[in-house]
Amino acid sequence: MIVGVHPLAGFDKLLHYRVPDSLRASVHLGSLVRVPVLNALRLGVVGDLGAPKDFPLDRLKSVAQVVHPFPALTPDLLKLARWMSVYYAASLDGIIETMIPAAVRSGAGIKEQKLLSIAQKLKDEEVELLAKRAPQQARLYRFLAQQYRPQNKGLVAKRLQQTAAVANALIKHGLVREETRRVLREAYTDDWSKGELVAAKPPKLNAEQLAAVSAIEREVGHARFGVTLLHGITGSGKTEVYLHAIDTVLKAGGGVMFLVPEVALTPQTVARLRSRLESIAPDHKCVVWHSHLSEGERLDGWLALAAGEARVVVGARSAVFAPVHNLKLIVVDEEHEPAYKQDETPRYHGRDVAVYRAKLNGAHCLLGSATPSLESYANALAGKYSLLKLKLRVDDRKLPHIDVVDMRVEVMRARGMTTLSQRLVHAMQDRFDKREQTILFINRRGYSSSMLCTDCGHVEECGHCSISMTYHRADEMLRCHLCGDERIAPVSCPKCRSPKIRWRGLGTQRVEEAVRRVLPRARIERMDTDAMSRKNKFREILGQFRTGKIDLLVGTQMIGKGLDFPNVTLVGLIDADISMHIPDFRANERTFQLLVQVAGRAGRGDRAGEVIVQTFTPQAEPIQFSRHADYEGFSAAELKLRKDFHYPPYRHLIHHLFRGPNPEKLKFFAEQWAKLVEKEMGDQVELRGPSPSPIEKIKDAYRWQLWYFTRNVTKAIPVLTRLRNEFAWPDDIIQVIDVDPVSLM
Ligand code: ADP
Ligand code: ZN
Ligand code: ZN
Repeated sequence: MIVGVHPLAGFDKLLHYRVPDSLRASVHLGSLVRVPVLNALRLGVVGDLGAPKDFPLDRLKSVAQVVHPFPALTPDLLKLARWMSVYYAASLDGIIETMIPAAVRSGAGIKEQKLLSIAQKLKDEEVELLAKRAPQQARLYRFLAQQYRPQNKGLVAKRLQQTAAVANALIKHGLVREETRRVLREAYTDDWSKGELVAAKPPKLNAEQLAAVSAIEREVGHARFGVTLLHGITGSGKTEVYLHAIDTVLKAGGGVMFLVPEVALTPQTVARLRSRLESIAPDHKCVVWHSHLSEGERLDGWLALAAGEARVVVGARSAVFAPVHNLKLIVVDEEHEPAYKQDETPRYHGRDVAVYRAKLNGAHCLLGSATPSLESYANALAGKYSLLKLKLRVDDRKLPHIDVVDMRVEVMRARGMTTLSQRLVHAMQDRFDKREQTILFINRRGYSSSMLCTDCGHVEECGHCSISMTYHRADEMLRCHLCGDERIAPVSCPKCRSPKIRWRGLGTQRVEEAVRRVLPRARIERMDTDAMSRKNKFREILGQFRTGKIDLLVGTQMIGKGLDFPNVTLVGLIDADISMHIPDFRANERTFQLLVQVAGRAGRGDRAGEVIVQTFTPQAEPIQFSRHADYEGFSAAELKLRKDFHYPPYRHLIHHLFRGPNPEKLKFFAEQWAKLVEKEMGDQVELRGPSPSPIEKIKDAYRWQLWYFTRNVTKAIPVLTRLRNEFAWPDDIIQVIDVDPVSLM
């Protein structure tokens, strides 16, 4: 027997090996094996059974070891890997490595236990007889006969103070059965996500939800590939719809995958899902896949799925590669979230990979959002996806009123820059008096964005990256948010020695300080990556907020995701302009999403909520459309713009980044390359650039970039890949291709 193996060794080749007779039974397509490559043993995945015709069989090396009894990659995952390798212009071995968790690749640490149970039922007289001949054996037999479940061999021996020989004798006589089972660690039972547990009793669905559920159930019942986009406004009860669909699939014996943008930021959703699924059907073990798992937990969760013991996985992006059996439904919650895109190689998009995986399995893919990405929405409008809508909040709760405050007027009134408008201050005081809660969002951490000298105009920048340093007041430091470099904040201008230093822009710390000034007696907490560096702090603060121990939260949008606090009646967005003025064609879309999602955090209880948005450009479209949560209006206007400019979703976008220590050399090679692409690919792609990246330098490496627009990405990519492999790149230039990038910075 000959197999083709993809070694995980930093090159992209299928190598052939002989399978020794002793391993023949355990080698399958997708098996994780160790094979000799050059002079070392390497991990690899069996990608092909058999060898090409006339393959030279002499001098073929042999597979040395099979790492797991189950294939590490199911046939659909192998196909998925090959598709991803082409689509994302990434090496196959890198993708395979991403698909298989490190804990699984290492193959170590499986914990097993031996279990004892009765194999042959004895009559009472027979047990009496046994007791005369071998009293210890009879004791053990009686003990096991009283148990409902198989018992741990070691623990029983300890409890009855016997040696293993007693049990072994019973096993030998066929009276007791011994089986070996893997011990499952925390993956099922960890309480990491249980701190925020929400009541598990399912509410009665309203008419809209029922209609959505039955439409999805019909689709799933067809047992063929399809995609549904569920566009439901915030608080419309999308999660209930997911849960019903999941329940149906599980009852029919199918496997389910539930993806969330970031597990750490959605403890509520995960806890709710899990407690509900496990209460609906206790045998539906739910594997939670997140970055806080230990290696052992991850391995156990993976094995439970691979062995078919568990059929549901809940997790972030990488859970899309979980070895779920008989996959019938993939739910992608908050499908618009950029967090689904991996920002290192392989740069895949979790949602898009989910759709393709559903296709390979003849499964249904359910995408849900209050603000669907324009890509998905365009697919729905074009009839490629089914579209379902939830237009009402559950229980007839009102969408909160959005108040737009023109900060230009505020600045005139205050005769200078001001952080909090009068309207917002009054509203905050009002909530505090009424013992209701407030959340303030500001999309930038730190105290202020940059240090400006008003005498010479100097702005303090990071020496390694071409961006300004951010002032952190708490410890009087300047920090670079790209490379993390830090230095003590100067008291005079480093360039001209003038003491007239101003701090420009707003950050979470500055907002917190301003709030403390107007509400000195309120209990205030700040949530951003700076404040949250301590593990579990996030959960702790959310718990305190829920129980009313905190009156007001200040945070970046990281706290805006999926939170559901009934007592929050006021939400403030301090500076809506930050996301609107980034140089990215998705700036409007991101701003609209941010506003609608943030507003959705208010008024989830029985009181109406109020949202105050501060901006210097109140007439801007994303702001105006978001006031009425008018997704249709916004998407129509924005899609028209995109069409006029031939931007995604009307064409695909590919980003090519060149990075190196020498800016002139970088420019030269980027231009040579662009000329070649222009010549070879002609009208297949439209080029923009090459030009310096918006951030020209990061960690001392200079950056140039080139954009390709194309209508047919699956045709263009293989050509680009071939040209790239043939081009004579110098060693000190690193280049990265990003297909369908979600951020243009
Ligand atoms: P979304 O994800 O659409 O923002 P959720 O699914 O989080 O909305 O639902 C918001 C809240 O409403 C949750 O607390 C949920 O338990 C509750 N809910 C959902 N459906 C119903 C219903 N039919 N009746 C009453 N409450 C519901
Ligand atoms: Zn100066
Ligand atoms: Zn830096």
